[in-house]
Amino acid sequence: RRGLADLPPLVSDSLLALIAMANADTRPDKIDVGVGVYRDGEGRTPIMAAVRKAEEGLHASQETKSYLGGVGDKRFADLLRPIVLGAHADDDRIVGLQTPGGCGALFLALRLIAAANPEARVFMGTPTWLNHPPMTRGARLEIAEYRHYDPVARAIDFGAMIAALEGARPGDVALLHACCHNPTGADLSEDQWREVVRVVSERGLIPLIDFAYQGFGRGLEADRFGVELMLEACDEVLITQSCDKNFAVYRDRVGCLFVKAPSADLARFSLTHILQIAREAWSMPPDHGAACVRIVLDEPDLRAEWHAELEAMHGRIRMVREKIAGADPRLAYIAEQQGMFSMLPLSVEQVKKLRSDHSIYMTDNARANLVGIADNGLDRFCAAIVEAMN
Ligand code: PMP
Repeated sequence: RRGLADLPPLVSDSLLALIAMANADTRPDKIDVGVGVYRDGEGRTPIMAAVRKAEEGLHASQETKSYLGGVGDKRFADLLRPIVLGAHADDDRIVGLQTPGGCGALFLALRLIAAANPEARVFMGTPTWLNHPPMTRGARLEIAEYRHYDPVARAIDFGAMIAALEGARPGDVALLHACCHNPTGADLSEDQWREVVRVVSERGLIPLIDFAYQGFGRGLEADRFGVELMLEACDEVLITQSCDKNFAVYRDRVGCLFVKAPSADLARFSLTHILQIAREAWSMPPDHGAACVRIVLDEPDLRAEWHAELEAMHGRIRMVREKIAGADPRLAYIAEQQGMFSMLPLSVEQVKKLRSDHSIYMTDNARANLVGIADNGLDRFCAAIVEAMN
């Protein structure tokens, strides 16, 4: 008989290997810019004070852990609407439901697309978040790649993007990063968004917008610029949102899927399909993290405190970017990019040398989580990168 021994070998996850390598390094001043979590000046990923207070309140007041149902915490999704959808918050053609993180939202979105149109191709710019291709293949959808980032110009290859989308068929999917592009940090400008929205709507494509880092780029409102524009122009839009970064609740798995349909009836009908897909995968989303986010957003004091904490995280991202950009003219582009990640101008050999000579750990493609560096490591990091480039 065939069994587990017949499973094919998997390409090992290079990020996990990198984490193991960094953990094994005992040098006290090591710098880990591989893992994609926010770190403060001391190198910690703390629980936000507003979230901790919400957790305490929840602990004191929660009376039952009985099932909530497939959509999860309804009020959580309702409170997110103005934040994520902006001017479109009250549009009844948009349904939203709680998901296990941004990953859960992406899983549902891709399966929903596949259920509606198995022929749809998913257009994605490369490089993109490592999980986008396997999740797309997992939904049995075809991937169409184009170049998002020009590593020589250190900027978006906008010509390639538009040419690819112009060549898409109606019903094909445009997978876009709302802000803080992972891994390149190279976001669309407002004019580029206008152009992308024009092509997507004229060609009848379905935008699938991955919105994992709201507040880490230009600010909570500015970061949804493309989302709002797309909602204005298109009658079918999918938005996969994550609270895991901007509420720092990573392992609690907090996210939301928003789907806009041409009519409120069709939106409600789509939701029945989404709930069926969720039922087969996880039945119901985990409650704790979303309940805490709901409490934070529902209480003005906690909400203000969260907002101030998020602003401080954003401020640190900007500070680190300016600092690295100022270290060498060849790094100046870092200040123009958004979010935690950028690709550094380093070869695989240079990346490996940084590991062995300087205990600096980043992925082979030189993607670095810039806020992975504690304040006291910044000078050393900049000096080591400049040395490696020479
Ligand atoms: N999209 C992108 C671009 C991401 O970087 C991530 C997290 N690394 C996610 C989605 C998924 O986030 P979550 O942890 O909420 O599942």
